[in-house]
Amino acid sequence: MRDQLKRLEDLQKFDAQIQELNTALQAIPAKLMATQGDLAKVETLLRTERAQLVETQRYYAEQKNLVENDETHVSGAKHKLSQAKNSKEYAAAQREIDQGRETLSTRETEMAKLVEAVQAKEKLLADRAADVKALSDSIEKDAEVARVRMAEIQGKIDALKVEREKLAKVVRPDVLKRYGTIRMRRGMAMASVANGTCQGCNMNIPPQLFNILQRGTSLESCPYCHRIIYWEELMKDPAAVAAPVTEPPPKATAASRR
Ligand SMILES: [Zn+2]
Repeated sequence: MRDQLKRLEDLQKFDAQIQELNTALQAIPAKLMATQGDLAKVETLLRTERAQLVETQRYYAEQKNLVENDETHVSGAKHKLSQAKNSKEYAAAQREIDQGRETLSTRETEMAKLVEAVQAKEKLLADRAADVKALSDSIEKDAEVARVRMAEIQGKIDALKVEREKLAKVVRPDVLKRYGTIRMRRGMAMASVANGTCQGCNMNIPPQLFNILQRGTSLESCPYCHRIIYWEELMKDPAAVAAPVTEPPPKATAASRR
């Protein structure tokens, strides 16, 4: 039975390694997706800012049209001035010219500001687009590294699985079945017993069971967590198998005295 236990223990090591690698493998896409989420956010921001720029440019074009209208209006008023028949008409035309010029001047000041705003925004957008490009390139590179890493881990898992299956073949089928069933429920199917305590659930096992474990001739389960248990010392030292158990060990010190 010691051989079987030893093989199970090795099997468990393989399973734990495979499990660990699987966890590492699954963590990689999650991390990549997080950075891709960041990229999507800055891309959205960039699109919003581009839309704002388009809106400002549209407003500028609108103002430019209005300037043309204002100029037409002023030249119309100038014409009226030249045609004025009396001082009242003259004054009215002059007022119209003054108002038109004032409107034009205000509009032109505003347009100059708009030109500045558009230029600043274009500069900002160019910078931001460069940042987005850099982030996108870096993600692309990370994705490539991740693909290589994932293939590497998968290769290790596949190799471990092959070794595990070889080992599983030399475990007694009933023992393997029991191991598999407990593993599905508990994650780890085997636990050592050290100082009379099951290392799987930290419960003290009954002294009679501990005696049986020391003989190492049967497959035993922890009465509390149902894992397959074995006496820690039995696995360490092959001579212990032959060593006769003469006295029931006191729980806490049995292992340390040996
Ligand atoms: Zn237990």
